[in-house]
Amino acid sequence: QVQDLKDTEISNLTVAVRVRPLNTQECSLAKVSNIVRVNVNELTVFAGMNADATAGLTHSFTYDHIFDSTDPDSKNYANQEEVFRGTAIPLIDRAFQGYNACLFAYGQTGSGKSHSMMGIEALDDDASGSSIPHPEAGIIPRFCREIFNRLERNKHSIRAEIEISYFEIYNEKIHDLLCVTQSEGNNSIGNNHAASTPITTIGNSRPALKVREHPIWGPYVVDLSIHPVDSYEAMRNWLAVGNSQRATAATGMNDKSSRSHSIFNIVLNLMEIDGESSCNETGTDSYATNQTRRSRISLVDLAGSERISTVGSNGDRIREGVSINKSLLTLGKVIAALADAKKSTTNGSGFVPYRESVLTWLLRKRSFFLGQ
Ligand code: ADP
Repeated sequence: QVQDLKDTEISNLTVAVRVRPLNTQECSLAKVSNIVRVNVNELTVFAGMNADATAGLTHSFTYDHIFDSTDPDSKNYANQEEVFRGTAIPLIDRAFQGYNACLFAYGQTGSGKSHSMMGIEALDDDASGSSIPHPEAGIIPRFCREIFNRLERNKHSIRAEIEISYFEIYNEKIHDLLCVTQSEGNNSIGNNHAASTPITTIGNSRPALKVREHPIWGPYVVDLSIHPVDSYEAMRNWLAVGNSQRATAATGMNDKSSRSHSIFNIVLNLMEIDGESSCNETGTDSYATNQTRRSRISLVDLAGSERISTVGSNGDRIREGVSINKSLLTLGKVIAALADAKKSTTNGSGFVPYRESVLTWLLRKRSFFLGQ
């Protein structure tokens, strides 16, 4: 919770909050009511209020954006498209300029991270070949679609090579979500230049992958599969493969997915072919000529942020809770250190504790695989 972001205009970090509606179960409980009020980018929480809001404390927080998705009939209602526009479009603009970008969804299990990042059944509906996203499609499928829409608009001036990877981190161990069986030929694990054809079958075994530190490229995941894609449909199909891998693993392990971080990565290589390009949403920006731009984008659905005491008490659950807490805690420390660059240099250390968790270690340079 960032209470005071005075320097947002010069910050590389943007914090947005989305308030979801109460679900059916919550609505059926007499004592549950919406205790959050949104006023532009100020969010007020009425803590300890009676149901009639007569007593208790209020806390106000200011964010770069607040998306109020509580009431579809309200004029301020933020739908999936608005959340995507507010959070992801600026990142796509920056990625097309050659900057790396990262977007995290953080919150308790059930708070709406997957809904915001992936959306409800968006991938199935999108498969109909429609040129516009499904209304409930989340940030990730919209992000993928927007990349190819921009490339299509600029196809005479830009040549693009795009590669994706998708993995999850569970108990500080990495599992490839796009690992396919050797029998699938070109799409075999570790083949960095496989064809971007749709995938029909996936491998069953998902060994934990190791992180290594390359002297030049920095941290990377050994043997992570990388998949070139040349269309939105190919990207969407890989996304569906990864989501189904994640869901399959979660079913066997008591909804493990809420306790793992999923990281969808896009590497964008853009080469200008006629000297000048204009690739932002409105097509108004132009960039220096004869450039090759490379950016790495990570779209991360974090594990539920609930505390260990609410997760459970047996050995496995405690181990999970410790891992989740460790990576979320480290993520918080890393973001705080990066956001407050002034403080980290004036206190003499400038130290950013990337290596304290696998998640932050890998996101440091986002060199998930060698050769990038
Ligand atoms: P998380 O990934 O944080 O555990 P989910 O995205 O699975 O949470 O959301 C929990 C439930 O709440 C799902 O049934 C989801 O459809 C619903 N939900 C979440 N956000 C919204 C929203 N903005 N509007 C409507 N339903 C939502």
